[in-house]
Amino acid sequence: MEENKINEANGAGNAPVRQDNEQNDNKSKAPFRKGYYYNRRRKYVNKPYYQRQEKISFKKISIVVPLLNEEESLTLLANEIRKALKPLEIPYEVILVDDGSTDGSLKVIKELCRQDKRFRYVSFRKNYGKSAALQVGFKHVTGDVVITMDADLQDDPNEVPNLLKKLDEGFDMVSGWKKKRYDPFIKKQSSKFFNFVTRVMSGIKIHDFNCGLKAYRREVVDNIKVYGELHRYMPVLADWEGFSVAEIVVTHHARRYGKTKFGISRFFKGFIDLITVIFSTRYIKRPMHFFGFLGAFSFLIGLIVNAILTYDWIMGHSLSNRPMLFLGMLLIIVGIQLFSIGLLGEMVVRGTVDEKEYIIKDKG
Ligand code: UDP
Ligand code: MG
Repeated sequence: MEENKINEANGAGNAPVRQDNEQNDNKSKAPFRKGYYYNRRRKYVNKPYYQRQEKISFKKISIVVPLLNEEESLTLLANEIRKALKPLEIPYEVILVDDGSTDGSLKVIKELCRQDKRFRYVSFRKNYGKSAALQVGFKHVTGDVVITMDADLQDDPNEVPNLLKKLDEGFDMVSGWKKKRYDPFIKKQSSKFFNFVTRVMSGIKIHDFNCGLKAYRREVVDNIKVYGELHRYMPVLADWEGFSVAEIVVTHHARRYGKTKFGISRFFKGFIDLITVIFSTRYIKRPMHFFGFLGAFSFLIGLIVNAILTYDWIMGHSLSNRPMLFLGMLLIIVGIQLFSIGLLGEMVVRGTVDEKEYIIKDKG
């Protein structure tokens, strides 16, 4: 199991981690024998500097955990987080966002926060959804790096160091890939399809868009808006704001307690949301490019159809039983309407352009 995980992490480009882990294993298992120390020493000295160094450059980690009715998992999750983050020796905080739970979750998280000052919580009066929980969690972070994680113990806190190392390579966001997934068959298959469509439509080459386990630089969460059900498209939102996105393989577990909070409706909502994402990230500031193009296209086709019919009429044919006439008229009218919507959109955008919405990377 352990070995598996190390290999997977390695597969995702984390060679230094594996090497150091191996070395630690040797140290604990090898009996004392003559020459061992020197061999080890030589090995250590021969290693290039960048492989020896394991330090992560982040100063404070913020972990955001959205949760809805997960009372059984929470204490275990808190313990696992503490265990996984201890070796990193970086200060951290955990923000538990109770998304209107109706079980004893709030009581459990209050108790957790009382016992450990690194834990804080936000509790919603009603269930607003995972996206809202994440957005509010992001508002409360104080660290320079943010990790999100589900509360149901399906995501493994032991992956946090791997995510951070990948992020430290220079990426702005690192997404987990549940390569080996422990979910019901239907969910796995539909998720594959969903990921495929999202990959094609967004042009982002990652395998798993909706993994709960992700790492972001602070700047990213400060600048993206997650609402509705857009938490499924975090990599798309980040990519289109100009941030770089990477992916690493993470271990996944079966749900231990309770049941999934997203029913069959997830599939229908999912795709409508993809259209929202594409429209709002690509065209919201230039509606004419969308409506104007469609409108002009429709108008032109209608015009050609009716021009051909007009030519027929001039040639002496009757137009009384030519259904194409209706098509031509319809295309022209729809075209003009789409074009006008585009123009109105442009006028609205002109009045609302706000400089604050442009993310500035650096200034001299
Ligand atoms: N969740 C939430 N609000 C919701 C639905 C879910 O905060 O309206 C949380 C849930 O408690 C869990 C995470 O989001 O921590 C992922 O949910 P779930 O495990 O049900 O999703 P799945 O793993 O089935 O995709
Ligand atoms: Mg889950």
